[in-house]
Amino acid sequence: MIFNVSQLLNDPIGSARQYPLDAEDSGLDSGIALRAGGSTTLLRTHQGIWGTISLSVDTQVSCSRCLNIYSVCLDLEIEEEFFRKSDIDEYDEFAETVIDDDNILDFSEIIRQYTIAGLPMKPLCELDCMGLCQLCGENLNKVDCICAQRNNIEPRWSNLLHLAQD
Ligand SMILES: [Zn+2]
Ligand SMILES: [Zn+2]
Repeated sequence: MIFNVSQLLNDPIGSARQYPLDAEDSGLDSGIALRAGGSTTLLRTHQGIWGTISLSVDTQVSCSRCLNIYSVCLDLEIEEEFFRKSDIDEYDEFAETVIDDDNILDFSEIIRQYTIAGLPMKPLCELDCMGLCQLCGENLNKVDCICAQRNNIEPRWSNLLHLAQD
């Protein structure tokens, strides 16, 4: 997600360029994959470059109940102003919105941050995910363990249950 903005920095304020996003060559963090589509607009501002990017990413998360890894798709709308390294304080030199000395503007870190911020606090692989059995540790979405029956049902009901099942 890298753009060379040397030319745009020399253009008058208000100049804009639009770029389609290339899913093959996105240069994003491992674990974040770009879906097809999306676009970037770069606008020359008084102080730097205003970057607008809209894209969909796929990323892997772990279900908070059953710990299974599954894929989440997020639609991101990002707007940030980027500044030239020479125009900012030393303090900000390594911020994610810095255009480096080679006039490279890189969205990767911003996209990574928006992706993390966009993930649910308690991700669930399915809304009704059954989670793990607290006794035997089996994934209850896949296995029907008998721990619950063993512990919650009194023996006299157990017989009835068997009858009902038959
Ligand atoms: Zn789950
Ligand atoms: Zn169990």
